[in-house]
Amino acid sequence: MTLVGHLINGRVVTDGTRSQAVFNPATGEAAKQVDLASQATVEQAISAAQAAFPGWRNTPPLKRARVMFRFKELLEKHADDICALIGEEHGKIAHDALGELQRGIENVEYACGAPELLKGEHSKNVGPGIDSWSEFQPLGVVAGITPFNFPAMVPLWMFPMAIVCGNCFVLKPSERDPSATLYIAQLLQEAGLPDGVMNVVNGDKEAVDTLLHDARVEAVSFVGSTPIAEYIYATATANGKRCQALGGAKNHAIVMPDADMDNAVNQLVGAAFGSSGERCMALSVAVAVGDAAADALVSRMQEAMTRLKVGSCADSGNDFGPLITQAHREKVVGYIDSAEAQGATIVVDGRKPQVAGYEEGFFVGGTLIDHVTPEMTSYREEIFGPVLQVIRVDSMQEAMALIDAHEYGNGTCIFTRDGEAARYFSDNIKVGMVGINVPLPVPVAYHSFGGWKRSLFGDLHAYGPDAVRFYTRRKTITQRWPSASVREGAEFSMPTMK
Ligand code: NAD
Repeated sequence: MTLVGHLINGRVVTDGTRSQAVFNPATGEAAKQVDLASQATVEQAISAAQAAFPGWRNTPPLKRARVMFRFKELLEKHADDICALIGEEHGKIAHDALGELQRGIENVEYACGAPELLKGEHSKNVGPGIDSWSEFQPLGVVAGITPFNFPAMVPLWMFPMAIVCGNCFVLKPSERDPSATLYIAQLLQEAGLPDGVMNVVNGDKEAVDTLLHDARVEAVSFVGSTPIAEYIYATATANGKRCQALGGAKNHAIVMPDADMDNAVNQLVGAAFGSSGERCMALSVAVAVGDAAADALVSRMQEAMTRLKVGSCADSGNDFGPLITQAHREKVVGYIDSAEAQGATIVVDGRKPQVAGYEEGFFVGGTLIDHVTPEMTSYREEIFGPVLQVIRVDSMQEAMALIDAHEYGNGTCIFTRDGEAARYFSDNIKVGMVGINVPLPVPVAYHSFGGWKRSLFGDLHAYGPDAVRFYTRRKTITQRWPSASVREGAEFSMPTMK
């Protein structure tokens, strides 16, 4: 059986002490094993990164960017192989895997602009004959810890920008679908990156804790669930590291009475059930304003959901695939059970989907739940499955109050034809990423991505302009070249512009 290893100092190695099964979630079979890095193996990766740093730091940004140009070409050339690996281990259908890869590639394209992004700031004559400038220097060794649901895109949010800014990287991908991420890192190596600049360690808590406690790691980027994000942020910052930790979500869509209902239904079906709802930006709650809007929404959703196709990634005609593990499948079914037990109406029930030929797969069909209330467990917690819940309210203010009261604040959206209402909503809602008739408002690579409240711990968002600031540290230099004409005596008061 294949044993997925680590990329350390340009070579794929295995540790050989502990390993864990990697499942094909469509068949339910343990198709591979992933090696779980020990503390010693992670320390080797950190040492390799540290050794590569002086040379990489002094490599001109233009040359660093050229590696990214070649990397982009290789990602495009090998897109089918990457999507096949994502399909085998995550279960994502090829068209969706290609979408996540393309969004990842756009971060590589942004990283290709490193010489421009790192130009810094310059002021001439801040005082007589005195110039001052700020430059943005790399931090050193930085680490990334990523979730299972985007094995290509989320790692690509992190390491291209970190590396092009002059850092060396240690990535700890999800142990549940590690192969696509390792393959992508090998393509970066093939693009001409010097050994040790990019390292991958597969593993679990032992690997993560080693990264969090090793003094040589200067910064940590994390994406995953909120309890782990909180732990990562607390531990990394307590150890003196810079940290950004992106967590879970509960994304609401307000459906106003004046919305184009056909458009809202189409957008909601894709955004709630695409990728089996295993997206941190998935729309999982529809807040319908008024019973007329709610009734229209529920009946049209019910009709649209008869056309949903759930199945294996082998059939590109499917809309979405299985959940990641059997345990996660049971958890999602448990949330649907709890909503039913607490009084909600299960309008479309996906708990027992029939997927011919894949009876052992971890499938849940699209599920629609009406008459959900804010007290229900299924509303308060993140389900992370193909489940759309409908809450009925009387006004937009009530809908906004509900969203603001939720602990998560990743994404949200409003469906309306009223520009004034949309503007009020985007201006006031306490959520980091807002869509107006756009269901998945994932910022493009030249903006930055991040939620509010307990969806993000830290200050700077992921990728885009914030990544330049996160992966560099500002140094400000003030310079004067004294000459006989400007030479002054000792000055004991705070220097000011006189
Ligand atoms: P997860 O939190 O279980 O795992 C994320 C990473 O943390 C993995 O690499 C894992 O190995 C590691 N990890 C898990 N438990 C740990 C522990 N006890 N100590 C140290 N490390 C640990 O998340 P997941 O299930 O892989 O991904 C799904 C979650 O990620 C969802 O909550 C989703 O909303 C969130 N997510 C958020 C964003 C975002 O941008 N905000 C994007 C994608 C996914």
